[in-house]
This record gives sequence, structure tokens and C-alpha cells, in this order.
Amino acid sequence: MEPNKIIRSKRRTLAIEISPRAELIVRAPNRLPENQIVKFIEQRSAWIEKHIQEAIKNVNRAKPEELNQDILVLKRQTRQVVKIKVEQFSKIMGLKYQDIKISKAKSKWGSCSPTNNLSFSRVLAALPETVLDYVVIHELAHIKHKNHMQQFWNLVQEYCPDYKNQRRWLREHAYLLELA
Ligand SMILES: [Zn+2]
Repeated sequence: MEPNKIIRSKRRTLAIEISPRAELIVRAPNRLPENQIVKFIEQRSAWIEKHIQEAIKNVNRAKPEELNQDILVLKRQTRQVVKIKVEQFSKIMGLKYQDIKISKAKSKWGSCSPTNNLSFSRVLAALPETVLDYVVIHELAHIKHKNHMQQFWNLVQEYCPDYKNQRRWLREHAYLLELA
């Protein structure tokens, strides 16, 4: 887990905080070596993930109109939340992916390459969590089925029973992709 920001100062101890934008911020003494910061973060990864998830829930309530000012912030949030979600669901679904990319593509919420590289739009952190989960499940399901045949949708439905509602939400909010 990479901090979004390391703020060094004359302080003597390390501290971590999660910003309202779900960013991981580390406050560190001026000369503390980087590897100690990494270790500190690793030891607290469960706490960090829990608090990032909470912050993400609040971020999800942001209004779409507010987003175009903050596309780069959004991209960072998306990288964090998507990574957590992909890891969660790939374990649950028992599917192995190659890598995750956050893309500027204005036409797709996500995609899965023939070599199982997953790519996600950088606006995803602005979606309601249930919709975000669906996008992740959809792309992970393509690891097994590289098409949209019935077997593919059956697999999606196993992990996202109301996927039809999430698809409808995405169709109705396609304009969000324009912000990417
Ligand atoms: Zn698809």
C-alpha cells in the first residue's frame, strides 16, 4: 500500500491518517528512512483498509457536478478503491488477474484484455459502491469467459444478483465517463 502523501516535519513519531478523500497520508520525522515508513504501513494495513473503505463510502456521496474539478484526486481514489475491490472479489471468485490499470478511456467503465490485464475508468470512485462492485465483478468474470454469452452473465449473477439494476445505473450515468 503506497501513501498518497508523506509529510515530513520535526515531529518524533510516525502517524497515519486517512483524508476525507480516502487518501493515505503519513506524517513522519524528517530523517526517518523510507523502509521504516513502509513497515509501519504494512503493520497497520488492516486499520488502513478499513478506514479507506469508510472514507470511500463518503466520497461516493459526492455529486457528479463536483467531479470535473478534481479528476486527478478522483483518479488516485479510484486506484485505491479498485485495487482493494479487485483483490477482494478475485479471492471470492477464485479468479487470477494479471495487472490493474486506471484508464482515461471515455467509452468504457472497464475492460479485460486477452492476457487478463484489467483496466478501469478513473471515474469509478465516484460510482455508488454497489455499481462499482458490479463493474469489478463484470471484468473479473471475463477472465473466465471472454464474451457476453449466457454463461458469462450466470457467473456475474452469482456474485452480483441484481446486476441488471447496476447495468441500468451505468447506462443512465454514461455521461460520467466524459469526465475521465
Ligand atoms: Zn464485458
